[in-house]
Parts: sequence; C-alpha cells; structure tokens
Amino acid sequence: MIIDVKGLRKSFGSNEVLTGIDLAVADGEVVCVVGPSGSGKSTLLRCLNRLEEITGGEVTVDGHTLTDPKVKIDDVRAEIGMVFQQFNLFPNMTVLENIIEAPIHVLGKSKADSVAEAKSLLKKVGLEEKADEHPSRLSGGQQQRVAIARALAMSPEILLLDEVTSALDPELVGDVLEVLRDIAETTDITMLLVTHEMQFAREVSHRVMMFDGGQVLEEGPPDQLFNNPQHERTRSFLSSVQ
Ligand code: ADP
Ligand code: MG
Repeated sequence: MIIDVKGLRKSFGSNEVLTGIDLAVADGEVVCVVGPSGSGKSTLLRCLNRLEEITGGEVTVDGHTLTDPKVKIDDVRAEIGMVFQQFNLFPNMTVLENIIEAPIHVLGKSKADSVAEAKSLLKKVGLEEKADEHPSRLSGGQQQRVAIARALAMSPEILLLDEVTSALDPELVGDVLEVLRDIAETTDITMLLVTHEMQFAREVSHRVMMFDGGQVLEEGPPDQLFNNPQHERTRSFLSSVQ
C-alpha cells in the first residue's frame, strides 16, 4: 500500500475534524473522495504530506511513517504532488518558469533538462504555446492545467488533487478533467482526488470513498457506490449533487 492510514485523528483546538480514519491506497490506484463540505476531505489530504500536524494515529506514505519524528518530511513531500482548488502559481514567473522551479531547486536537475521536460508536459496539457506567458494572462482552466504540469514535473509517485475544478467556470472544467483522465489512464501515478464531478469519478476511479463527519462512511468500486449505496446519508448526498 503506497498510502496507509490507521486511526488518523486530527483536531483543531477542541474541534475533532478527523475522527479515526483507516485508508489504504494501492500503488497506481485512482481513488475519488466525495462528501459534504466541512466533512474533513481537505484536512485528510493535507495530513498526507503533513501540511497539517497529525493529532493521532499512523500515516505511512511510500514506506515513510509521517508520525515518526525522525522522518525526512521534505523527501516525502518530493514524492507527492498536490494541486489545490486555487491554482497557487507564482504570479511573477512565466508558465515555463513555474514548472522548472522545483525540478531545478529541489531535485537539482539541469536547466536544459527541466525546460525540455516542462515543454513536453505543457504539450501534454495542451498549452505548449503558453510557455512564456504569465499566469494572469491565462484562463482559470489553463492556470489549473499549468499547476498540474508543475506537479507532474516533479515525477511524483502520488498526486493529491483537492477539488481542482471547483473554482472554474463550467465551460473550463472539461479540459481539466480530460488532463486528469489522461494522467489516470497513461501513467502509474497513484491519485487521490477530492471531487464533486460525479460522472468523472464514476468513469475514472477504481474506487470511490464517501466521506462524512471526519470518517469514511462507505467505499467501493464506483458502480457499487453510485448505484447501490449502503447508507441513507450517501444516497441523500449523491442525490443532492447529481
Ligand atoms: P472539506 O474539505 O470536506 O470541506 P475541511 O477539511 O476543509 O473540509 O474542513 C473540515 C473542518 O475543519 C471544518 O469544520 C473546518 O472549519 C475545520 N478546519 C479546517 N482547517 C482548519 C484550520 N486551519 N483551523 C481550524 N479549523 C479548520
Ligand atoms: Mg475541502
């Protein structure tokens, strides 16, 4: 299991947001996490690379135990790409500079190699002609595709994607989902996606997890979860979003 979570708890002050999560994701698996707002989905993703301190339980990512005080967290983070709802591109850099920054400064790759790789990734996300633009000149959907290319430039083992289409105008969502589908189908990167795009989750994921109240309420292959949910709470959530 490339991601192995046992009894994960996370509190903010007296507010226990994750109440004991067990979660195992196999290498190369594509898992979608769905569930109501405020149920702790983003907090879960952020705990997986310790952007949030973990209150209790055990989290192991590609063999690194994050709760071990001796873990080299930067090494773990280098294996995990994360893309957020807000694209978080560096506004003062061009698209190309955004993508080559971490490969050069974190992985120590040469500039020439990084530029060549960045250009091929921009082609993959359909934006090769935007290399020298600044992010502010791009649509939200284009910025999000650059953010995905930037994450891929680190050759991650794992991609964590937190509602990456939720801030986009509806007509821009499809292109971003196409890029995600392409990654899911053509790479062996393990993907954990929080999404409200149920059709996409149905088509692309190996497994869907319904999250509620800081817990995994139920999980299963998409056919099972969408067509035959076991919990009334899942049924009402699904009918509210579809
Ligand atoms: P979701 O992504 O499912 O909408 P979140 O993980 O963002 O849920 O939030 C779950 C709960 O944790 C919410 O009640 C939210 O207010 C709380 N929370 C999230 N981040 C923080 C924080 N940094 N400080 C305090 N409370 C937080
Ligand atoms: Mg969230």
